[in-house]
Amino acid sequence: MAAGQLIPAEVVRELMSHPGALFHRLLTDPAGHLVEYTPKLYRPKVGVDRFIRARHQTCAMPCCSHPSRSCDIDHATAWPLGESTGTNLAPLDRRHHRYKHATKAEVSIEKDGTTTVKTRWGQTYVTKPEPLDEPPF
Ligand SMILES: [Zn+2]
Repeated sequence: MAAGQLIPAEVVRELMSHPGALFHRLLTDPAGHLVEYTPKLYRPKVGVDRFIRARHQTCAMPCCSHPSRSCDIDHATAWPLGESTGTNLAPLDRRHHRYKHATKAEVSIEKDGTTTVKTRWGQTYVTKPEPLDEPPF
């Protein structure tokens, strides 16, 4: 791919849908010199993905019962500023994922999975994952 060429969002989504897809962030200056390399993974590793979906059986938004197995895994703090780890990832169904980004809602996740959503209108919602009754896999 030529330097400076933009990748359309739909192409990125398609690439990301492939298991094992690996992204590296290569930031260059306008002349094309590499100024930063981020070896972090955008897509969580399989074990992290399973952990997130097991911890949250449903979408992490308040009062949503959409099963996490068919949710997007969202970065609370956008990658690459936020890492692809358990304290920065939560399942959001597509509708809530779009809502979060469209309204710029702030999401934070604690180590135990407690998720806090602050809307731009000043409301704060806190949800805690349900305890596991049985192994989800
Ligand atoms: Zn939802």
